[in-house]
Amino acid sequence: MQPVRKELFCDIAIIGGGVGGCAAAIAAARRGRHVIIFEKGVSLGGLATNGYVPQIAGGIEGICLEFTKRLEAEGQLRKLYPDKDYYRNPSFEPEFGKIVLEEMVTQAGARIIYDSTCMDVEMDGPYIKKAFFYTKGGVVSVAADIFIDASGDADLAAMAGVPYEVGGVDFAGLNMSTTLGSRWSGANLKKYLAAEEAYKAEQLAKGVKNPHPLVYDLEEAAIQRGELVRHVCNKNTGFFRVIIPNTPEDNVDFVTFSFHSYFCRNTDCEDITRQVLEQRQLMKGFLKFLRTEVPGFENLRLVGTGSIPGVRDSRRIFGEYMLKAADIVCGNKFEDGIARFPEMLDTHHPTSSNLVFQRHIHMKNPSGTAITLKSGCRAEMHPFGVPEGVEARPSPRDYCEIPYRSLLPKKVDNLLVVGRCCSAEFHANGAMRIIGPAMGTGHAAAVAADVALKENLRPRELDGKLLRKILIEEEGVPLDKPCEGYWAELREQEGEFFVNYGDAIGIRPAGN
Ligand SMILES: Cc1cc2nc3c(=O)[nH]c(=O)nc-3n(C[C@H](O)[C@H](O)[C@H](O)COP(=O)(O)OP(=O)(O)OC[C@H]3O[C@@H](n4cnc5c(N)ncnc54)[C@H](O)[C@@H]3O)c2cc1C
Repeated sequence: MQPVRKELFCDIAIIGGGVGGCAAAIAAARRGRHVIIFEKGVSLGGLATNGYVPQIAGGIEGICLEFTKRLEAEGQLRKLYPDKDYYRNPSFEPEFGKIVLEEMVTQAGARIIYDSTCMDVEMDGPYIKKAFFYTKGGVVSVAADIFIDASGDADLAAMAGVPYEVGGVDFAGLNMSTTLGSRWSGANLKKYLAAEEAYKAEQLAKGVKNPHPLVYDLEEAAIQRGELVRHVCNKNTGFFRVIIPNTPEDNVDFVTFSFHSYFCRNTDCEDITRQVLEQRQLMKGFLKFLRTEVPGFENLRLVGTGSIPGVRDSRRIFGEYMLKAADIVCGNKFEDGIARFPEMLDTHHPTSSNLVFQRHIHMKNPSGTAITLKSGCRAEMHPFGVPEGVEARPSPRDYCEIPYRSLLPKKVDNLLVVGRCCSAEFHANGAMRIIGPAMGTGHAAAVAADVALKENLRPRELDGKLLRKILIEEEGVPLDKPCEGYWAELREQEGEFFVNYGDAIGIRPAGN
């Protein structure tokens, strides 16, 4: 290694400035700790901002709720249901996401170091003594009492010798499909929606029972003509759009996660390069299609592509508890539950652009609130063999918790791991990797680190039940109450469950 040019010291060092790392930095600094957050890029937010994924999914609680409210106060949030007093999948301006996170982190008193890529560690038995960073000015080191790996890819944990897994065991170690986020400008949504309305009326008049959205049928026709490839769009709904706030209806900015690569190996730089090259070519072809074929998109421009690859999963550590897909499906709760998510499994299919998602698992004895309706798995869903047991999916009326033990890596004693790389099975990661729980785990890890330091304990010696109590009583995370807002409405909504086109569970209102 090159000589160390600068040595830094702190109580808690956080590697990675995504939403998980930011929540950790804010919470730890507010509890009076000397915190440094190291980020290899030059802005905060990770995938949520730099990856153009500015849509907050999952339960929005704790620091995530504060982030959401601050974006709203800045006029930079778009609510999916403007008339409701709750948030459900709100989108935000990604550039403001970076600014609001910088303000929250610095106002809390944490220090940010950009342009610093963690590249090595020095160990002292089971403890990380120092982490080393590649920077423009040479190697920088940090010595800390506790480290938090928020790199999304468990980079620090892997360097420190924590065992990990990559990809799905039922998919021969392949990762979920990846999607480079992209930002587009100049869509006349008003014109498109009018054209879609007319198309729908036309289809109904022809006797088509449930007409597709116009863009979906145009995409399918272009695919059949050989002018578009299947993995440019979502087979089920047409291309997926998230509208950026403050852009007028006749000149909309949106982001889309529609350009999938399959058979991905997300810790291999050559394969990541292949995916990104492929996805930018898909965007180029799709731009031409939209401009020439879809009403309202004639003046569309591609104005940004993600500056970090659209990796949904890579390394997942082996921790004191590996969250199971079955925990999510059955709605399991834990005595040391420190974050939660009332969401479906969202495995983006590793190999099939026809199916796009796998949102069920197979279980021999599903319990709890698991729903066991059949969708009739096709061979393509499980290319290496259909697992034993019945199909099981989580109930939209329930939620699952993430235990503190899933943040505690095996083998290393002064490390916590947060965000999309904590200890969870492949299909469980497909649910808990979203922004809400990523921030929830960051928040919880910071409180755990603070209390462990105060009590002179190793994080794994801290009582997870106590941590949960502190999160509820001191940090205002409502883990003791059922999920509110949108989720309360779902709980009360009457109707029959059915497996929808996206392989998830929907609720069909009575009489439909
Ligand atoms: C295409 C796509 C669509 C998605 N859609 C949604 C959605 O609609 N809603 C939703 O809630 N979630 C969505 N997600 C998931 C969600 O965006 C992420 O899983 C979540 O934001 C992860 O946050 P994180 O902080 O754990 O990791 P990341 O966002 O990956 O952040 C990690 C940070 O660490 C930095 N870093 C990495 N390695 C190092 C290193 N060695 N040294 C220093 N810094 C390092 C990175 O630059 C990055 O800033 C989507 C993800 C993808 C890929």
